[in-house]
Amino acid sequence: MSETPAPILVEAIGLTKFFNIGRGQIVHAVDNVSLQVHEREIVGLVGETGSGKSTLGKALIGLHDKTSGSVRYRGQTLPLKYRPEDFREQAKRAQMIFQDPYSSLNPRMTVGEIIGEGLKLKSSTCANDVREQVAEWLRRVGLEPDHMSRYPHEFSGGQRQRIGIARALIMGPEFVVCDEPISALDVSVQAQVINLLDDLKASMGLTLLFIAHDLSMVRYVSDRVAVMYLGSLVEIGPANKVFFEPKHPYTQLLVGSNPEPDPRTEHRRRSTLIKGEIPSPINVPAGCRFANRCPHVMDVCRQVTPILHVPKDETVSDRQVACHLY
Ligand code: SF4
Repeated sequence: MSETPAPILVEAIGLTKFFNIGRGQIVHAVDNVSLQVHEREIVGLVGETGSGKSTLGKALIGLHDKTSGSVRYRGQTLPLKYRPEDFREQAKRAQMIFQDPYSSLNPRMTVGEIIGEGLKLKSSTCANDVREQVAEWLRRVGLEPDHMSRYPHEFSGGQRQRIGIARALIMGPEFVVCDEPISALDVSVQAQVINLLDDLKASMGLTLLFIAHDLSMVRYVSDRVAVMYLGSLVEIGPANKVFFEPKHPYTQLLVGSNPEPDPRTEHRRRSTLIKGEIPSPINVPAGCRFANRCPHVMDVCRQVTPILHVPKDETVSDRQVACHLY
C-alpha cells in the first residue's frame, strides 16, 4: 500500500519572475514554475549557475516580488507584492540561509545582534529573553554563548555559516530555503554543516528547499530532487530515482558531470560533459530550452515547448519530465 504524502506546506503555481533590466530587455529568471513542497520534506533544487534556482527560492519566501503566478503557504495564497506587515508575518514562518557566510553577515554588528535581530519582529520578546535565546542557539549550532559579543570577522567560514543558520532558525520557521549553504566552505567543513542542518531538521520538524549545483550532494540530503534549466523545471522525482535513473537529457549530463575517483571512469565521464553554453535568459529560445545542447534533439524540440508530465513507462506518479522523448 502506498504511503499517504504529508500535507503540502508550500506550493508554487505557474510562478514567474522576470527582471526588467532596461532598454526593453527582460531577464526570464523563473518562468512558469509549479512545485509542491510537503511538510517535513527536503526538496533539492539543482542546476547550473544562472538557471534561476536562487530567484525561485527567494520568490517562494517573498524576498522577490512575483511577476505572475502564485505561491500558497498552507493553502493560503500569498500577495504578489509584499507590504511591510506581510514581510513580518512571512519572516516568522519562512527563512533563508544564504550561500556566502562572508557577505551575508553585517561586519559592524556583534554576533548577538545579528542572531537576535529578527526576534524584534516578535513584539513580546524582551532584551533578556533575546540574550537567552541567542545563547541557546549559539550552543545548538556548536558555538559558545560568549561568542555573542564578538564580530563576524573573528570566525572561520564554517563558524560564520553556523551563525547564519542560528540567525535563520531562531525565528522558529517551518520552511527554510538553504541557498547553496555549503558551496563557499572547505570540503572538510561541508559535511559538518550538512550534519548540523540534518539534526536541526529532525529536531525542529523543518521543511527545506536545498539549493545546490552538485547533484551528488543534494541526493544525500533530499527526499525529492527538482532539476532546473534556464528558468524552468525539467525533471522532478524521488532523489535516488533522479540520480540513478535520470530521464531528461540535461539531468543525465548533470549526473555525468560529477567527478569520478576512478581514472578509467573519469576519462569516460569527461567525454560526456555538457557541451555548449546555456542560452541567455534574455533571449530564451522557442521550443525546448535545452535543444542547442541536447544530444537527442529532434525537429519537434525546436518548435514545441515540452511540459512536465509523468513518462508512460514510469512506475511512480511523483516522477515528472519535460522532454519530447517521453
Ligand atoms: Fe532534448 Fe528534445 Fe528532450 Fe529537449 S525535448 S531535452 S531537445 S530530446
